[in-house]
Amino acid sequence: MITNLEEIKTLGEINEDENYQFRVYLKGQKSFKTDKIVHGLYKKFSKEIDCTTCGNCCLCLKTGVNENEIIRLSGILNISVEKMREQYIEKFDRSDSLKNLPCIFLKDLKCSIYESRPGDCKSYPHLHKKDITSRLLSVIGNYSECPIVFNVFEELKTEYNFRNRNMAKSNIPFEIQKQASKMIYDFNEKHFAEEMNVNYFAEFKGKYLYLNRYEGKLISPVARLEYTGNMDEWEFAIFKWSTEKYDPDDWFFPGSELADGTIEGAMEAGLEAYPI
Ligand code: SF4
Ligand code: SF4
Repeated sequence: MITNLEEIKTLGEINEDENYQFRVYLKGQKSFKTDKIVHGLYKKFSKEIDCTTCGNCCLCLKTGVNENEIIRLSGILNISVEKMREQYIEKFDRSDSLKNLPCIFLKDLKCSIYESRPGDCKSYPHLHKKDITSRLLSVIGNYSECPIVFNVFEELKTEYNFRNRNMAKSNIPFEIQKQASKMIYDFNEKHFAEEMNVNYFAEFKGKYLYLNRYEGKLISPVARLEYTGNMDEWEFAIFKWSTEKYDPDDWFFPGSELADGTIEGAMEAGLEAYPI
């Protein structure tokens, strides 16, 4: 278990692309199964991690508040609701939230209004709720800030045997791996509806990016891209089921004209070669 906030922040950067890949992977799993594992892990880690010695969410995350809570908090501060709104509330993700960081109610790393704290604070980090799969972006967003979220998510990777899947040494610069993962993530968002359970994901090994696709529980290799030092000039090789190998010389498969050296082109070509 890791609870050091600096270490968690650093690991958040290192694991960013893996976390996005894991998110894609989780979307192909049964959400009730993921919920069950996460709820169990949440129970375990929230017992083991002492929030009173951490307080990081109160230091660096914005708390959502509703109208009743704004009225209640203005009463606690002994100011008008208008003044409360003007001084301490802002719109965040189209909802009202406390704007000051650290939170104005945090005193000596403790909540000074603990019994009256907003519902968002009581519920944080929201891992007891149902349908975690639909909220994975916010879980990943909290991964670097909250030791409970970090440890639950890491343990979840172990439960799904996902760890080490992407740990192979890669010669592709980390920044490029991150950019590539983001492109794949954006492509998935644009092309595949949530309920389809279809997503591309990347594995990085040596000088190669292996482009795979989840379809439900099925993982299929699609293509291999060799990094040439230029983000728009990857060497493309389609995966051939007849030989079970990647073939850089086959340019006659359906969609081959779409493989233009870019990662998006490779994914488009993969959709033509292997339609869903
Ligand atoms: S109201 Fe209390 S629990 Fe909520 S963010 Fe502020 S200090 Fe933390
Ligand atoms: S919920 Fe997470 S970030 Fe907040 S105090 Fe507890 S461990 Fe720290």
